[in-house]
Amino acid sequence: MKTKIIQLIVLSAILLISSTNKVCSAPDKKKPIKVLMVGGGSSHDFDRWYKQEDVETLQRDGLAVVSYTDDPSKILGLLPEMDVLFLANNQPISDEPTRAAIFTFSQKGKGIVLAHPALWYNWKDWPGYNQLLVGGGSRGHDAYGPFRVKITNPQHPVTKGLPADFKLDDELYYFKSDTQGSSVTVLATAQARTDGPEFPSIFTVGYKKGKIVGIALGHDAASHKLESYQTLIRNAVNWVAKK
Ligand SMILES: [Zn+2]
Repeated sequence: MKTKIIQLIVLSAILLISSTNKVCSAPDKKKPIKVLMVGGGSSHDFDRWYKQEDVETLQRDGLAVVSYTDDPSKILGLLPEMDVLFLANNQPISDEPTRAAIFTFSQKGKGIVLAHPALWYNWKDWPGYNQLLVGGGSRGHDAYGPFRVKITNPQHPVTKGLPADFKLDDELYYFKSDTQGSSVTVLATAQARTDGPEFPSIFTVGYKKGKIVGIALGHDAASHKLESYQTLIRNAVNWVAKK
């Protein structure tokens, strides 16, 4: 008798789980975008602002499911399952097969988002990274402080919902496109003083079939907590994930 009751309870539990699953996988629900975010390196609190804050921002309302790692040796195994690679690291990715896999990923039309630390000229032994994936890079920045970001292409899906311009405290990267590299389309610029130089702050990179967005903002809390920044990274992941 006791066994029968237990069997009945188990059966009811199975039925309940399977009916719940049916509700969850309703066809009208959008599948979350699978993102691999890579952090780690120097000068930034990767755990606080990328692993914690940005992962939370991207996962809000089921937009994405993010796997975060600060171990570059994990990239090769995880990449094939992903829709988007979000590079926020400035530590080296030294392994040749991993470097090749990142290029193949982009060439196959998968999305890449390159965040603040990953826009630097980080690796002397991997010039193709900057030339082809970033379309250039940064070798310097203003001292951390306030500056203005101006949206120059408000029609683009990546800048949708952003104010025409906004101010924040951050490092203003001296991003320069490489004339020999992939083409860069600027969507927003950064300028510290009205008479000062303007640098690309948000841009897309044209590399084969891949969709790539570069975001020079993101040193610390002042950007990662900002609503405009959060809208921006959500837009960027959403756009690069689209075929
Ligand atoms: Zn920084």
